[in-house]
Amino acid sequence: MEIFERLADMGHERVLLCSNPDVGLKAIIAVHSTALGPGLGGLRMWPFKDFDEALTDVLRLSRGMTYKAAAAGLHLGGGKAVILGDPKSDKSEALFRSFGRYVESLNGLYITAEDVGTDMEDMEVILSETRWVTGVSPAHGGSGDPSPVTAYGVLQGIKAAANWKNDEPSLKGLTVAVQGVGNVGYYLAKYLTDEGAKIIGADIDPEKTARAESDLGVEIVSTDEIMEVDCDVLAPCALGAGLNQESIPKLRCSIVAGGANNQLHKEEIDGVALHERDILYAPDFVINAGGLINVYNELTGDYNQERALRMTRGIYLNLMRVFEISKEDKVPTYVAADRMAEERIATIKKLGSRHWGRFISNH
Ligand code: NAD
Repeated sequence: MEIFERLADMGHERVLLCSNPDVGLKAIIAVHSTALGPGLGGLRMWPFKDFDEALTDVLRLSRGMTYKAAAAGLHLGGGKAVILGDPKSDKSEALFRSFGRYVESLNGLYITAEDVGTDMEDMEVILSETRWVTGVSPAHGGSGDPSPVTAYGVLQGIKAAANWKNDEPSLKGLTVAVQGVGNVGYYLAKYLTDEGAKIIGADIDPEKTARAESDLGVEIVSTDEIMEVDCDVLAPCALGAGLNQESIPKLRCSIVAGGANNQLHKEEIDGVALHERDILYAPDFVINAGGLINVYNELTGDYNQERALRMTRGIYLNLMRVFEISKEDKVPTYVAADRMAEERIATIKKLGSRHWGRFISNH
């Protein structure tokens, strides 16, 4: 019974186990909520140590997608999928086509996209079995690399946080420390430079730091130093859990606003610790929604990056609302972001019938 209790506890609508021994497919698709629209979320391929680890991941990630889409104001629910396997050795056309048939069987309740361990080419194989897939190449009418749009959304979030904190959205003269100058971090540094901010950056990959230094004049420090440099804004753009009991006491910034997923190691400890230190934290799933907004624009047909960027500018107002709720309700911003998302889901649920809007039916 334990699995049913977990589903009930987290509120999942549907979980599909996908098995095709002939092609080595072992996958799980989790649809958390379709209250606002079809559950969209990436397909992760990972050598999970066992079924339980894969299930835990897919349940947690699909729920996270519900909150991200709701906070971004999209007509999307939350879903996610995992394939148990090693992306370096276990990929095949038959594997992804078989997975694509499972996606098709859900008839639009779940829409897939790339994630850790999968890429645009895998999505294009899936596309041969189902239209419920995003993140395909521009040649197939897709949106391509989401990183520039994600970074653009993070820029809007940093402006909102600066406005809330300093009564001034301009970033001119501010110092921003970017942890991880990979795809998102690099584009963010570029946008920030154009805004007149000073950038300090760090990365474990020397090629990435060299590119940021030579192209954009970013001042490079070590990966330990970046969490402790004196700056106005710390922008985590590397892997998750960088904000924890060890790093938070050492921070010398007044704002944390970056693109990484799952920035807080433990929300209820680290989100509170930032709040108590009066460091304004821009919740990750609100500020990094640009990538999701980008693929959402694929679903509406005729993908257009200008339109995706325009929608992404809405992240500014979404974050201002989060900061307001945090102030009014006297709660940390991570709690305020959850409340904002939950409020929207509850309100739209009251409409009664499930209507996903014109665009999905056209897809
Ligand atoms: P990426 O792999 O291109 O960049 C991450 C960079 O962080 C890499 O260059 C890596 O070397 C560096 N790094 C890893 N550990 C580090 C450390 N301890 N200190 C400093 N640098 C470190 O990935 P990305 O696509 O830029 O994504 C960055 C983050 O943003 C991830 O958490 C991702 O989940 C999240 N995110 C990305 C998108 C997107 O559109 N790409 C959308 C939403 C969220």
